[in-house]
Amino acid sequence: MAKNIENVYEIQDLSKIEISEINNLLDSDKTLLLALRKGVHVEQSLKEGYSQYLKANVELKEAKPNCGTCGCGEPADILVYAWR
Ligand SMILES: [Zn+2]
Repeated sequence: MAKNIENVYEIQDLSKIEISEINNLLDSDKTLLLALRKGVHVEQSLKEGYSQYLKANVELKEAKPNCGTCGCGEPADILVYAWR
């Protein structure tokens, strides 16, 4: 599959969505735009272009302070594409 920025599903509050739901979206060929907090794990995933946690390709869209809520509940500061 390929990244499809024409059909992006935005998730601004990851703390309110189950990983199973994210899984389903990724499996249904959606490109997700996730609001995340840039930390060591995220940074490593971005460097590799792949998230072991999401089992998906990831790519930084932009840095944007307070763009949402990360899965850990912290304020998000980056927007990241994820797709399978
Ligand atoms: Zn987090």
